[in-house]
Amino acid sequence: MHIDGHNNRVAGRDYYEQATLKLTPEQLAQLSIKPCVKCETRVVALGVTTCNHCRRKAQAEENYNKWVRYGFVVFLIWGTLLTREQKSGTHVTPFHLLELGVTAVGIVVVAVASWFMIRIFWLEHGDDISKSLTDAVSRLFK
Ligand SMILES: [Zn+2]
Repeated sequence: MHIDGHNNRVAGRDYYEQATLKLTPEQLAQLSIKPCVKCETRVVALGVTTCNHCRRKAQAEENYNKWVRYGFVVFLIWGTLLTREQKSGTHVTPFHLLELGVTAVGIVVVAVASWFMIRIFWLEHGDDISKSLTDAVSRLFK
């Protein structure tokens, strides 16, 4: 075995005992790792604050909370419909209760769908609408 590295073979490659790693400060910063700010057990690269595990967990939690909110609104509307039916003196059978529940789900689905449609419309044409409104208001005060 030669100390200066000639013909020293590991996995079929020559290697050198004293290899000098020449990296720029930017490359060193790219290679450096730091702990995730949330769990502090996993490590992340430069420019990232949370690890993939914590990010996926936060996303799943957000989705769960969204469905819980939808469910809460469904039960709220279902209760309102049921109260209205009982105030009007109707005898509520189990099938009628189910109908009211389906109606509540339908109201929530239609409301959410129309909200998303309004949102998409505003994202596409919101600038034009606000610009023309601003022009109309400024013309009004001239
Ligand atoms: Zn983490």
